[in-house]
Amino acid sequence: MTAPVSPIPTAPTQQKRARHVPERSCVACRRKRPQGQFVRLVRTDSGWVIAQKGQQGRGAYVCADTPGCWVAKRLGRLCGAQAAHLSSSLQAHHERTSSN
Ligand SMILES: [Zn+2]
Repeated sequence: MTAPVSPIPTAPTQQKRARHVPERSCVACRRKRPQGQFVRLVRTDSGWVIAQKGQQGRGAYVCADTPGCWVAKRLGRLCGAQAAHLSSSLQAHHERTSSN
């Protein structure tokens, strides 16, 4: 099920400004998207976790809206044996943030 895309009025003359938007790629599907569309992961002493606001460290990104990118099999490339744990963290994170 996908949310209906509302027709957001955009100013047609202002597409593609020169302003740099940082692009990241998903560790699971390698898709490139603006950073805001990812969940940021960060490597801590105890392994990969979902980054808290402002948390520093070696980072990785996974699509925030694509459950297919949260499965352990695809996260294994990033975090090996922790993939299953990270996978359930991402699902819980999504439930928390989407139910509002
Ligand atoms: Zn992805």
